[in-house]
Amino acid sequence: MTQTAPDRSNLWQRIPLWQKILAGLFLGVITGTLMGENASIFKPLGDIFINAIKMLIVPLVFSTLVVGITAMRDPQKMGRIGARTIALYLLTTAFAISIGLLASWLFQPGVGLDMSFEPNPDAGKEAPSLVEILVGLVPQNPIDALATGNILQIIVFAIGLGISLTLIGDKGEPVVRVFESFAEAMVKLTSLVMAIAPFGVFGLIAHVAGSYGPEVLLPLAKVIGVAYLASVLHVLVVYSGLLSLLGRLNPLRYLQGILDALVVAYSSASSSGTLPVSLRCATKNLGVSEGVAGFVLPVGATINMDGTAIYQGVVAVFIAQLIGVDLSLADYGMIILTGTLASIGTAGVPGAGLVMLSIVMAQIGLPLEALAVVAGVDRILDMARTSVNVAGDLMVTTLVGKSEGELDEDVYNARHKS
Ligand code: ASP
Repeated sequence: MTQTAPDRSNLWQRIPLWQKILAGLFLGVITGTLMGENASIFKPLGDIFINAIKMLIVPLVFSTLVVGITAMRDPQKMGRIGARTIALYLLTTAFAISIGLLASWLFQPGVGLDMSFEPNPDAGKEAPSLVEILVGLVPQNPIDALATGNILQIIVFAIGLGISLTLIGDKGEPVVRVFESFAEAMVKLTSLVMAIAPFGVFGLIAHVAGSYGPEVLLPLAKVIGVAYLASVLHVLVVYSGLLSLLGRLNPLRYLQGILDALVVAYSSASSSGTLPVSLRCATKNLGVSEGVAGFVLPVGATINMDGTAIYQGVVAVFIAQLIGVDLSLADYGMIILTGTLASIGTAGVPGAGLVMLSIVMAQIGLPLEALAVVAGVDRILDMARTSVNVAGDLMVTTLVGKSEGELDEDVYNARHKS
């Protein structure tokens, strides 16, 4: 009798992607810790991966959104989806900043810490006003918006184009079919790019783990710990709670379905950069329709920053404790208000939250120079807040999908996610 040897060539393909990505993360941490700064030789692996997913953002968002809008064919439904999306984004952000404040107030990470600080070059940058933001939503030139990757302007143009294509009926059909085919190709390209995600994540994490030694991390271990704890609690309590209560959905399936996006967000510290992966998780793993995911996720990646809101709450209170300022109830109220607005204005790119924190600090009269204390470890904090930002976008997308009958629960409840 002849024995057939096991087919090893397929072993790699048989391991689910999320397991390979997680393995990349852990190996990255180990390599970075062992090699220290030398681990930056792996950074180009990460840069190639990040460039590749960034390459997808504009064409993927644009084509999916046009296809999604033309598939919906109902302006009332679109209005409802928009209103629900914004309401849920605001609600979760207010929860987030309150959890951040509560965690810092309870654990007092800044009490008894003696740290000096120097002026921070990033402090004091002005945020745009609400009117400026609204005016800026409408692109003067859509090609320019596409070329510079201005997501909100792209969304506005794509919605306009989608509605017009629907209104012209049969005449719009050829263009719709081109977009359908193009969107399909972009989704495929995302899958191809994700095949290198384990190596990219490894390279990014090895570099970060190798660059931060214990001498930088230890003095701030408590505030980092509090920020991470508040972030985990927010995802496990608020997101899981809302999914079960409002959506009657099993939160475990959601957590399982978003893993790829979480790891990419964690290692890249950019929610905009993670967008192609989030879109893939929403449609392939959670079963949300392309129309809903194509609208709710890009909006979220630009305005919904729950992790950033948590961080603002934690760090504002931490700095007040550090310099011995007692915050009044009105100060806490002001942090919630400005923190929510500042998080909306935060761009989904690395380090943006640190700049926006200066607005919150200025409002309650804390010295902006104190930001220098946390600036040194910002990347470590940014990784956690970006993961929550992305998790929040995906949670709201799932709920909106469910409420509109645009969630395939067989896909959502499937145990095996890709
Ligand atoms: N890096 C975060 C993000 O991309 C934004 C921030 O810095 O808070 O979501």
